[in-house]
Amino acid sequence: MKKRTRKKPPRRSHQRQDRQQRQMLSKKVRELYPPGSATEEADADRADADDWGSEFEHDPSSSSRPAGLRGEPPAGEPQPPTPPTAAPARGGVVVALSSGACRIDSDGELIECVLPSRLAHAQRAAVAVGDEATFQRHGASGHRLREVLPRRTTLSRPDPHNPRIERLIAANIDVVVQVVSVLAPPLRPALVDRCLIAIERGGAEAVICVNKIDLLPGDGERRRELAALRIYRDMGLRILVCSARTGEGIPGLREILTGRTAVFVGHSGVGKSSLLNALDPRLRASTGELGPSSARGRHTTARSNLYRLADGIRLIDTPGIREFGLWELDADQLRSYFSDFEEPAVDCRFNNCTHTHEPECAVRAAVASGQIDAARHATYRRIYESLMSDSRE
Ligand code: GDP
Ligand code: ZN
Repeated sequence: MKKRTRKKPPRRSHQRQDRQQRQMLSKKVRELYPPGSATEEADADRADADDWGSEFEHDPSSSSRPAGLRGEPPAGEPQPPTPPTAAPARGGVVVALSSGACRIDSDGELIECVLPSRLAHAQRAAVAVGDEATFQRHGASGHRLREVLPRRTTLSRPDPHNPRIERLIAANIDVVVQVVSVLAPPLRPALVDRCLIAIERGGAEAVICVNKIDLLPGDGERRRELAALRIYRDMGLRILVCSARTGEGIPGLREILTGRTAVFVGHSGVGKSSLLNALDPRLRASTGELGPSSARGRHTTARSNLYRLADGIRLIDTPGIREFGLWELDADQLRSYFSDFEEPAVDCRFNNCTHTHEPECAVRAAVASGQIDAARHATYRRIYESLMSDSRE
């Protein structure tokens, strides 16, 4: 008995110390990796003239944002080693992930960590690239991830084998750039719709980047081709018109991404790699991981990576994102992605109501009364129709 009462106070103070330490770590991680803040600027910058030349963004706008991250050394510069501390746990950002292990960037030092077994088992749901995490020494020379901190945003998609299970593909992303191209391959808005659902659910900002605009030199041609994107602009999305080849629009893209964590999604061949190289020509050289010699001799053969580009841009590239364009969605599952329909849907006459044509549909009634945003329902209908026509093919 006596022993127990004597033991209590130190344990409590240890817990408090532990909590304070976690709070400090979390704060530090947030200082190093501040959440992006370009959303309001994006709103302010959005052109409203009814003229396609100015409707889409080509220019770095006049608004200023500090270059680089607060307290972050310029990309590519050698960073001083972190002095050993007595602290039992440190913090950082998961920059690479492989089976049973991850690499954490802690103040610029890259630390290989094994995952605790409880996380390793549920790995693809429990840890993602972009996660802020704590870790500690484990064994004589290694480290072990300890805890994943709460996420600001996520990007996930349905499991290819079981669409009811969601697979986490990246965490704490500020912006998802959906890259489409004109002519080769031509614009395909249906994919944009499907990705938008996932982006919106996860909480990141969605931006559409139209690449290869150099293939359409004339204003008239551009206007015709880009008319398909007008609905997205009306939904409030930022649309950038770029050419990785000529550099047109690249400063505007850079500005949106500066100091933020981003992912690029889109069909193969639209120019994602070319855009990344236009943003930072040193990308391949500096990471050495996007190239073919990547996995050579590494302790962690990384499947997913977070790269640091110039201007404090952090880019997440994972197989999950590369496959994102192939995301298959069943028309019947679509409504589960519109959580704002759930509550009114309880009153639909049919419990498998698709909210498109059925009588006594409470969701359509909620749209009519303004309880549900009409643009949301229009998006839903558009995706629903595209999924139905896919399944008829
Ligand atoms: P990814 O599969 O999305 O990464 O696409 P890539 O970056 O590999 O580009 C696919 C092809 O499109 C390559 O042949 C590029 O040279 C070409 N390409 C990329 N960007 C542009 C562009 O802005 N204009 C033109 N005309 N071609 C481009
Ligand atoms: Zn309904």
